[in-house]
Amino acid sequence: MVPALDRDAVPRLVVKVGSALLVDADGNVRRAWLETLVADIADRVALGQQIAIVSSGAIALGARRLKLPKGGRASLEDAQAAAATGQIALSQCWAELLAAHGLTAAQMLVTLDDLEDRRRYLNASATLHRLIGLGVVPVINENDSVATAEIRFGDNDRLAARIAQAAGAQGVVLLSDVDGLFTSDPARDPKAQRIDRVGRIDAAIIAMAGGGTSSGMGSGGMASKIEAAQIAASAGVDLVIVSGLHDHPLARLAQGGCGTLFVADGSTRAKKAWLAGRLTVKGSVHVDAGAVKALKGGASLLPAGAKSIEGKFARGDVISIIGPDGVAIARGLSEYDSADAERIAGKRSDALAAVLGYSPRAALIHRDHMVML
Ligand code: GLU
Repeated sequence: MVPALDRDAVPRLVVKVGSALLVDADGNVRRAWLETLVADIADRVALGQQIAIVSSGAIALGARRLKLPKGGRASLEDAQAAAATGQIALSQCWAELLAAHGLTAAQMLVTLDDLEDRRRYLNASATLHRLIGLGVVPVINENDSVATAEIRFGDNDRLAARIAQAAGAQGVVLLSDVDGLFTSDPARDPKAQRIDRVGRIDAAIIAMAGGGTSSGMGSGGMASKIEAAQIAASAGVDLVIVSGLHDHPLARLAQGGCGTLFVADGSTRAKKAWLAGRLTVKGSVHVDAGAVKALKGGASLLPAGAKSIEGKFARGDVISIIGPDGVAIARGLSEYDSADAERIAGKRSDALAAVLGYSPRAALIHRDHMVML
């Protein structure tokens, strides 16, 4: 069993589908193939694995409908118009196919900025968690029709890695039109060999990725897949690049199908480094002994467990969690700014709305955005 498809190791999985798999050369959805993928997804869900989908294809689908040249990628305006036109068809298609298996789809369109900005990151993350918790299958794409060149991911490979991070997933499968990472370009070099497993992404691995995309339809290519693997690794998420050119690509992968697995450092070390490296600590929350015990058991920090707040911080800033003995036990992204955190410290969750005057987040720091020290 490929680790990404092991439900126990990866209870939550992001599956990314590239444009070249979704859309044929005539600009139509490859529906028969997609049905086989959705059947696989439904099987995974039935086995208890939670799935989020990152789907490309909006630009490719829309370009055809609008009869735009160069697959809709001749200019940013063309790409944005194509994305807006194609996205509606794409969502409808996913919703229909998932519904045929009794699954509810939800659409989320995000930009790079949404996931870089700490506050919006927390919002996107909370929505993903809630959707997945409700048993819904989120279908995510970049919000191409509003993103400018500077705030675009540009490719959905990196988007998929960031979504995995935000959704608290443990694995990503990038379904592509290539079989994985090769020692050299397999189209040109008969001696090119596929690499099964990558532990550390070093200069040699990056050099192998070269550039470009074989289909010319998406914007990805191997280089962006390696970048995605780097983002995933830094968040402790495993990533597999595998060919989706066959029917039932996930079932095939589960049976040991080929591909390249990028193994992340699964310990909390990677997550800790990500949190630590990303931002400086802006404040702290002092908690009671009960909260310390709950946090050590893997719970989120609720306002009721907070005794006092120190420092000035914004929602999404990193703060320390300090136990009764004055020792910092954890660190995480605050769901509240310091003023609101002070107002709700010590309050029970059902009292928060009355204190704040708005519908609040249940946790002061969610366990997915926290590392124990
Ligand atoms: N977001 C783009 C689309 O839906 C695709 C980006 C990519 O090629 O990865 O068409």
